[in-house]
Amino acid sequence: MKDEFKVNEVYFSVQGEGCNAGRPTVFIRFSGCNLSCYYCDTKYHKEGSLFTAKQLLNEIKKFKVKTVYLTGGEPMLQENLLKLVNLLKKKNYWVEIQTNSTINIPPYFAYSTELLMDIKLTSSGYPSSKEDVKRCREADKINMVFSDEDTDAEICKYLNLLEKNLSFARVYLTPAGGMPKPKDVERVKRIAEKFPHLSILLGFQLQKYIWGDKRGV
Ligand code: SF4
Repeated sequence: MKDEFKVNEVYFSVQGEGCNAGRPTVFIRFSGCNLSCYYCDTKYHKEGSLFTAKQLLNEIKKFKVKTVYLTGGEPMLQENLLKLVNLLKKKNYWVEIQTNSTINIPPYFAYSTELLMDIKLTSSGYPSSKEDVKRCREADKINMVFSDEDTDAEICKYLNLLEKNLSFARVYLTPAGGMPKPKDVERVKRIAEKFPHLSILLGFQLQKYIWGDKRGV
């Protein structure tokens, strides 16, 4: 692949997750992922068309906002991601990247973009390795999606590992499906109390509350 990216969709919405919730954003969803998580809510990411960096920039410009969120699929699989990020930074875009933490991150991304990195629990089918956790050193935010089948002990095991690698990143514990039930809130509270020196927060997907669980929002 030369100067091309395989893209599933480009769309405008309001960020629904994390500390940037509410921010008008252009989302670029890249095609393809090296995992196949059990709870993946974007399995349609496999479809896609080819775009050059310049074509993507032209698509982004149509929406007249300066925030771009690169997601997937797994964005780090795109060979030329560095080139696209460079172009966006030159044009003064604020860029966030979501990654599943299984692929090394170019150092440039750590200081030029906001990095949201996933830690996978057993219920995903692909629990994160120690190497994956080490990569999270670069993270601004960590997300751990949990289901009823994941134990507190496993979450705490990862938090213990993260504690050795994190500086100030926020850690979101997000129930699968993104719509917390009271028992999920209790669980996050119980775990957060064990790690008072980490910034542990309940994760949820605001966009699903507002628009329901559908594509392109
Ligand atoms: S890493 Fe993300 S995009 Fe890939 S399969 Fe898992 S949930 Fe889906």
